[in-house]
This record gives sequence, structure tokens and C-alpha cells, in this order.
Amino acid sequence: MTDTGHLEQDLEALLQIENFPPPASFAEHARIHDRSVHEAAAADPVAWWAEQAKALDWFTEPTTALDDSNPPFYTWFKGGTLNASYNAVDRHVLAGNGDRVAFHWHGEEGEQRAVTYADLHRDVQRAANALKARGIGKGDVVGIFLPMIPEVVVAMLACARIGAPHNVVFGGFSAESVHERMEVSEAKALITVDSARRKGKTAPVKTTVDDVMGSLDTLETIFVVQHGGGDCPMQDGRDVFWGDALAAADDECEAEPLDAEHPLFILYSSGSTAKPKGIQHTTGGYLTGVAWTHKHVFDLRPEEDVYWCSADVGWITGHSYIVYGPLMNGTTSVMFEGAPDYPHKGIWWELCEQYGVTLFYTAPTAIRACMKWGADLPAQHDLSKLRLLGSVGEPINPKAWLWYHKVIGGERCPIVDTWWQTETGHIMITTLPGAQYGKPGSAGTPLPGVYAAIVDPDSGEEVPDGTQGLLTLTRPWPGMLRTLFGDDDRYVSTYWEKFGPQTYFVGDASKRDADDGYVWVIGRVDDVLNVSGHRMSTAEIESAIVSHGKVAESAVIGQTDEDTGQAVCAFVTLEGDLEGTPDLEAEIREHVAQRIGKLARPKRIVWADDLPKTRSGKIMRRLLKDIAEGRALGDVTTLRDPGVMQQLQGKIAEAQ
Ligand code: ATP
Ligand code: MG
Repeated sequence: MTDTGHLEQDLEALLQIENFPPPASFAEHARIHDRSVHEAAAADPVAWWAEQAKALDWFTEPTTALDDSNPPFYTWFKGGTLNASYNAVDRHVLAGNGDRVAFHWHGEEGEQRAVTYADLHRDVQRAANALKARGIGKGDVVGIFLPMIPEVVVAMLACARIGAPHNVVFGGFSAESVHERMEVSEAKALITVDSARRKGKTAPVKTTVDDVMGSLDTLETIFVVQHGGGDCPMQDGRDVFWGDALAAADDECEAEPLDAEHPLFILYSSGSTAKPKGIQHTTGGYLTGVAWTHKHVFDLRPEEDVYWCSADVGWITGHSYIVYGPLMNGTTSVMFEGAPDYPHKGIWWELCEQYGVTLFYTAPTAIRACMKWGADLPAQHDLSKLRLLGSVGEPINPKAWLWYHKVIGGERCPIVDTWWQTETGHIMITTLPGAQYGKPGSAGTPLPGVYAAIVDPDSGEEVPDGTQGLLTLTRPWPGMLRTLFGDDDRYVSTYWEKFGPQTYFVGDASKRDADDGYVWVIGRVDDVLNVSGHRMSTAEIESAIVSHGKVAESAVIGQTDEDTGQAVCAFVTLEGDLEGTPDLEAEIREHVAQRIGKLARPKRIVWADDLPKTRSGKIMRRLLKDIAEGRALGDVTTLRDPGVMQQLQGKIAEAQ
């Protein structure tokens, strides 16, 4: 049993420490020990990336590394041809590693399947032939709407094998969202499932898809993976069982040599700030970026490590760090079908022990949930094989960082806090774990070959170190998005207009430390508030509120205010079953005043049972702003649990 009082004290003490150097035991064996790689890349970034592209197998070598003659429409590795599925699977089999496990799949009810590289090789070729048999070929978009099962990987790689860009829709989305995404991308086929399992229940998928998909005439085929069972009507001529199609298909299908710039996939961003954007990635540059970052940020040893990224394949994190990055490097991964609290809240740690996980990658929202569930759950499992931890998705507040470090990492695992976006394709700002110390709350420095500047919103000039400004990326990088699907204009206006076609506008506010150049990503530009002329970040105030012992989670917004322009309004969820009281409200206000200053004190605190989050777990502050200011809600299609909004709207109405 962990004494929670002691743990609180220990974490308080750790809060005083600024830098966490890699433990000697880790650094000794790390792939990279110093900053010489950063220096080598700085000497000639384009040539350096061209060197990293050699980690891939090319059918034809590229002739030009970067073509920047028509910004912001950059291209990488022109003249080169390759195939993503060949790089993910064939070459490992050809190198004699066919027996290596690619995925230890673990089902919700405890089922286990070990999928080897040889298994993938066979199934991907069959699936590619099955797609071809239905008239799908190079350039045709294929939708994928599947749960976390090995078939999702096979489906993605089969598309890649024949040059059909995939458009994966996260399995938790509604059928309407699938319909919308298939419609705008003019998908020719959809690969889905009979039914999906979630926390012991089975939800029909195919029937709900049928209800909305009938009207789409571009969609010629629906493949159905049989997984959860139950009622599954099939439409004659259109619907095919995936298993039958693969069984009937030939098991040899040559990988198509594709241009480096051939689109590998379209993926819609999570919609935290606006209507989701159809982000388009290509083959050569994207694969170069995910392969290098996966190997070096996670310090991967493919022969020894067992890697687990807890994201869903339906997000960019899943595309880059469950599928393409790990498979480029011949990794053995864990893939888990279920939720973090089913069949019990310790399941992640049980699986880490069972599969001997050495590298673990998750999101701050999940870490905070685990904190809430208590340190004695992980304490029941042997986590001693873990040697590195990762975080992605939003800034990680220092309290969660330290808990992760102490309770999960046993104080011996470096934490890589990885900043990147759907648009960037791969990790951009972080620490190389054997070479750089971790600093709770700061992501680290731009990776080799990546260049960032923090600029003044008006002048576009770099701000002095320590001052908050807008994060920008100042050189093209191989994994960058190439456009928004079918909408070059929105691509230019969203990312390349504010500071010109050579400066990528990130949309995040940040600041940089003078001594070591570490970047603090503070939050979305929209999530910065202005009280009486003082700019403050919502994330910083949230972090102060959450550091109060009774608070579990918090979301802060700037609410329009007659006196101060904006006022701090905090939505707060409490630990366990605690109830909000006026005394506690005063305590939290005082706590924030002490941590940051009086100006940051919330003018209003709303006690919430839960916060509105996207399905990838990000807090949707724009919706909180809408309800606090009594407006109609903006786009809610990517909201995980609409009930949360009703509960909050009720509270606000009560208070008014
Ligand atoms: P949309 O663009 O549709 O609003 P989204 O931005 O939430 O959706 P993603 O591309 O998944 O979709 O998220 C990228 C954003 O997540 C970054 O711009 C940043 O705000 C945040 N983020 C991701 N990782 C980190 C990190 N390690 N530290 C701080 N912020 C992060
Ligand atoms: Mg975004």
C-alpha cells in the first residue's frame, strides 16, 4: 500500500527540482549521449534529413532532397520511389525477422493474439489483392472505421501497398461523422466491423453505418471485419466480409513503387479548436520523419524492447507511433483493444507486467485519470522492465509529470514530453532521452533538423527569451502536411498567411528558457487570456489549481468581463467524492494567488462532475467559453460525452 500522505509530500519535494538528468544506467546504453546530432543537423538540415531517408528501402533513390521553389507547397525526396508497406513488413521478413512479433494484441476479454511480421506480410498481400478485386487502385481513397484490432493495421498497409490513400476515422466517432468524412474525401470503399466491444458491451457498427451510408454513391464497397458478432445485414453487391475476401485472394501482391510525394493518408485533426481539417500526408518524407523520431526519441532497440503506445490508431499518434514508426523500425508492440478502466482500473499496469513493456507512451489526460485512481493500483504490478516513458497531446502539468516519474517510472525512467501535431506528422520538440535532461512542464528543444521561433503576434519578430509569444516553425521538415484535402486555399490561409509562406503558424502560445533553450508550450493561442492588459495562459492557471490537493482536473477560460476585458473562469472537478463549498472556493483562489499572483485568481469557479473532452481526451475550452458566455455551442461532433455539456449548462443556468 502506498501512503498517499507520503506520496503528496514526496511530490511536493520533487516539485523543487528543476532538471531531471537521464539516470546513469539509462544514459550509458542510450543511442544518443550528447548534442552532437543536433549540431550535425544544424550544419546542413536538408542534407541531414536526406541522410536519415537512407534508413528506408527505396526502389529508386531520390534525386532532390527538398524542393522549396513554390512555398508553401514544399516537396521532399523528389525522384524517389518507395512503398510504405514494403518498408513496414517485407524488408523485415526478407532480413530473416519474419518470426518476430509485430503486435501482441490483447482483447477486452483477455484474448491474446501474437501477430508476427510474417503474418502481416501474408495478410497485407491478400488484403491488397482483395481491394484490387473490388476495383480499388492507386489514388482511390479508402475509409477505415475499425476498433483496435490487428485488422486495422492490415487494412492500412494494404491500402499503402497499392497506393490507395487511407482515411481512418476513430472508432469512437458516430456514423454521421464517418459519412461526412467519406463524402468529402469521395471514398470508394469503407472497411468497417460488424460490431465493436467497449467495456463489456457490444455496440452494432455495421447497422448504424448502413443507416447513414446508403446515400453515398461514390462508395462502391463496404468490407466488414467479423469481430464482435451480432446482427450484421449485408447489402448484395456492395458488402463483402473481410475474412471471405482475404481467403479468396491470392497471397502474393507486389508492392507498388510509388512516388515519394504520393499521398499515404488523409486524417482529420481532433477538432479541439475548430472544425476538423483533412490533413494530407505523403509517403517518403513522412516515413523518414516517423522512422527517425520513433527510433531516437524512444531510444528503441528493436531486438529487445517491448513498446506500447496507448493511443488509438484513429489519431495521428496511432498512425505515426503505433503503425508506421514502429513498423519502419521492426518493433515489437503491445496493442490493446480496450479502455484503461476495463475490466479494472489497473489493467494497463497488469499488461505492462504481462508483456514486459519497456517503453510506454501515453497522454497527460490518462496520467491524471490514473492519479485519481490511486498509486496502489500500479504498485500491485511489477513495472521494473519499464525504462522510458512518453507523453503527448497537451502540456503535462508538473504534478502529473512527477507522479508519472515516481509512481510509474520508479524514478529510473526518463520522460519524453513530445510536442507535435497532426499537421507535423511526427515529433518536433522534445528531449533526446540519453542526451538531455527532462524539465517537468517543458517539452524540451526542437529535434535535430527542426527549427522553431517564438514570435510577437503583431510584428512577427522573435520575442526575447522568457517572454510569451507564438510558436512558429521556420524551416520545412519532411513529415510536414502537404495540404488540406482538396482545399489548398484553406491550407495556405490556416498555416502560411500570418507570417508568410516560409513560416509555419503553429497556433500554440509558448515561451523559451534563456539558459538551455527549452520550449514551454503553454496552450492554444485561443487559450490565452487577457486580464486588465495582462496576458496569462490558461494552462498555467490550470496547473496552479490542479496543484491544490483536493482538485483532480481543471479547465480555465477567459470570460468576457465589463471591468477587466476578460476574467478568469475556472471549471473544477474534485478528487473522489468531494463536494465544492464556498470555503474550498476561497482556498483555491488563495492557492492560485500564492502560486502565480492575485491577477490569476479565478473570478468564478464552476464545480463540474466532468469536463468536455474531444474523443482523444483534450479539453474543449471553446465549448466552455460558449456556455459561460451563454452562446450557442460551436461544433460538438468530436465531443466524447455530450451529457457533460448538459450537466454544465444546468449548473450555469442555476447560478444565473
Ligand atoms: P484541431 O487542430 O482540429 O483543433 P488538435 O489541435 O487538438 O485539433 P492535434 O493535431 O491532435 O489536434 O493536436 C495538436 C496540438 O496538441 C498541438 O498544437 C498542441 O496544442 C497540443 N499538444 C500536443 N502535444 C503536446 C505537448 N507535448 N505539449 C503541449 N501541447 C501539446
Ligand atoms: Mg490543431
